[in-house]
Amino acid sequence: MSAYKVANASGLIKLDAMENPYNWPESLTLDWLETLKSCELNRYPDPEAKALTETIRAKNQIPNEFDILLGNGSDELIQILLMALPQNATVLSPQPSFVMYQQISQSLGLSFINMPVLADTFELDLPAILEAISEHQPAIIFLAYPNNPTGNLFSRDDIKAILTASNGLVVIDEAYAPFANASFMDELVHFENLLVMRTVSKLGLAGLRLGYLVGSPATIEQLKKIRLPYNINILTQVTAQFALTHSNLFDEQTRKICAERAFVYEQLGNIDGILTYPSSANFILFRVAQGKSTDIFTSIKNQGVLIKNMNPQGGLLTDCLRVTIGKPEENVLFLKALKYSLQNLS
Ligand code: PMP
Repeated sequence: MSAYKVANASGLIKLDAMENPYNWPESLTLDWLETLKSCELNRYPDPEAKALTETIRAKNQIPNEFDILLGNGSDELIQILLMALPQNATVLSPQPSFVMYQQISQSLGLSFINMPVLADTFELDLPAILEAISEHQPAIIFLAYPNNPTGNLFSRDDIKAILTASNGLVVIDEAYAPFANASFMDELVHFENLLVMRTVSKLGLAGLRLGYLVGSPATIEQLKKIRLPYNINILTQVTAQFALTHSNLFDEQTRKICAERAFVYEQLGNIDGILTYPSSANFILFRVAQGKSTDIFTSIKNQGVLIKNMNPQGGLLTDCLRVTIGKPEENVLFLKALKYSLQNLS
């Protein structure tokens, strides 16, 4: 194994980690700082973060019949889910997808099955997955919806077929839900083995480290046995509570990011020699000429813009780069740097 590496972005325009590029207006920051005055740092935080949980429930219209588990980022929720499994359990996920599913499974010594997505569309290979389910009976299947790093939403019917076929849990990871206009939250009533996972990271609160998992009380009760008592610190509880009651700001920022995504997608499509994949998230995956991705990535970085080189992950990601949607001026600089790189490296 190797540790999850985060690139050093100092001095660079940061378009590598799917963050929201916007911060808050001054007046809102001052209001937020005012709320922090009430935090008693000498006391442990509310172990169940009740006030925040109820705000999350109300904002997402989560019915009372489902329970909510909060995590220190959805990363921690993935870890809790996997720690709850017996040692001989198998975990399944499409490939490529979010690397932490495999990373944490491996660190816990669990068997992990990668199911390659279809080459042209990045859709699920449903017959192969159904066969793997019947052969290996995975205890958990992770499906990122939209998928990272490909950006697409898998077919809803395929996901429903997987939910029906699986005796294990199916986690729909909706990290990019704010940009997608699609969710499985309304399917919770239909599938007992469905869990929906979200995060506030991509919305604009990545620094807080807060994710939430929604599912049946019976499943959440088991997961609570693994969770550390005070996993959501008081500053996160109070800040998230404050931020989520000002969700208009995030909605507005999300709209801007989606409009910019359309602009960047169109501009990339106009560049010769690049294959751009449609995205329902706040990033775009694109393919460059064979063997050129690392040189192009480095050249863009040398011009002051950090994106993500997916080529080292190999497989379907060979020759691929991923750019997070930034502010309009950042996106223009990225496109300029990319065009310059293509001209000067050919
Ligand atoms: N799921 C997916 C699909 C992701 O891409 C990411 C972050 N890259 C996460 C989960 C983790 O998010 P968080 O910041 O909540 O830990």
